[in-house]
Amino acid sequence: MKTLTDRQQEVFGRIDKDARPSRWQDWKWQIRHSIRDIETFEKLFCIQFSDEERQELDKTVGRFPVSITPYYASLIDTDEIENDPIFKQSFPNRWELEMNPCELADPLAEDKDSPAPGITHRYPDRVLFLVSNTCSMYCRHCTRKRRVGDRDFIPDRETILEGIEYIQNHPEVRDVLLSGGDPLMLSDEYLDWILTELRAIEHVEIVRIGTRMPVVLPYRITDGLTEMLKKHHPLWINTHFNHPREITASSREALRKLADAGIPLGNQSVLLAGVNDCPRIIKALVHKLVENRVRPYYLYQCDLSEGLVHFRTPVGKGIEIIESLIGHTTGFAVPTYVIDAPGGGGKIPVQPNYIISWSTNKVVLRNYEGVITSYQQPDSYKPYFCDRNCRDCHLQLKLGDADEWKAVGIQKLLDDSDQSISLIPKSNERHNRREAE
Ligand SMILES: *Cc1c(COP(=O)(O)O)cnc(C)c1O
Repeated sequence: MKTLTDRQQEVFGRIDKDARPSRWQDWKWQIRHSIRDIETFEKLFCIQFSDEERQELDKTVGRFPVSITPYYASLIDTDEIENDPIFKQSFPNRWELEMNPCELADPLAEDKDSPAPGITHRYPDRVLFLVSNTCSMYCRHCTRKRRVGDRDFIPDRETILEGIEYIQNHPEVRDVLLSGGDPLMLSDEYLDWILTELRAIEHVEIVRIGTRMPVVLPYRITDGLTEMLKKHHPLWINTHFNHPREITASSREALRKLADAGIPLGNQSVLLAGVNDCPRIIKALVHKLVENRVRPYYLYQCDLSEGLVHFRTPVGKGIEIIESLIGHTTGFAVPTYVIDAPGGGGKIPVQPNYIISWSTNKVVLRNYEGVITSYQQPDSYKPYFCDRNCRDCHLQLKLGDADEWKAVGIQKLLDDSDQSISLIPKSNERHNRREAE
């Protein structure tokens, strides 16, 4: 059993007089002793909020409850607490009650796009499957804040089976993304059962799990868990580090166990004002991630969820960060910066412009240094007309591998055989006038 840091020992001693390290590293102990009210926090950290502050905090907690694992709380630097990235992500802030009309309870319309309990089917070939409505730590920036703490529960087998049945009945679903809540709040046995059920579906090619456990409760990654997960390959895991300070000896150990179990690891960060809205912080973060075999996957623009106004940055901040990464560092250390479209349009990638101009012969580009260069396009390339009839094509694609047969969205406009010449919004007045005539 590894020894605890001084800080962990201090927090630990205040919660549990019988301070054996094995208890601190027991994830169930951590969940049982999560900080769920302001008073406990004050006691643990020897902080006293003023009456006025207390009133505002109580109001905030009444609306959006608090839960912080002792482990995550022990990472807070109390010397400069008001600027601490760990504190800001876990401790309530009166700004959460500040609502703008543009902020919504369900900005991504996940509930509207839900054909079965827990399922959001937004993209053609993959579904989001919420298998837990609880987390060990309630992130203050949670996009599903509407649900946090309202009813902490894990769906029963019957409800889960409804979701699984939906997937069974939809052969186009080749990728299932388990999320929540945190799916690793489930017991090993329950998760094993869900994964076994999913694996039994022939058309499900991959399963992914989205979890913040390596960040907020790394002791959840036990040998027993990784042994179980290993049985369900190909299985991918995405986690959620936002700041380099979250990468500790304990979280490194959790990541090592997962990577050693052959699980490809990705990371989804959220761009948060006052936490990580700085190119140097993000660069330090992505470097630490790849050092621990985690591929930075997405950097999210903060969603328009209620209670997040103080975390939101202009989109320009994200572009500035990506500008500072592309070319300046390892290609696979650069996440894709995305805006999840309000209303349920899905993730939209945004990045700086690299194409400056082009003609039929040449493309003019700029690189990360500002050098402007040109690329000569081939004269010899013979465009061919594609009617999506692969049988008559000289390119060798076995038809069995190409079950997609019609173009969708902007693809339609590029498609040689599709007759569409434009995509017109339903509300287009000019078009509606035409229809009426
Ligand atoms: C993010 C998301 C996915 C997965 O998207 P990828 O870009 O494939 O990672 C699937 N469904 C929903 C509803 C999502 O929000």
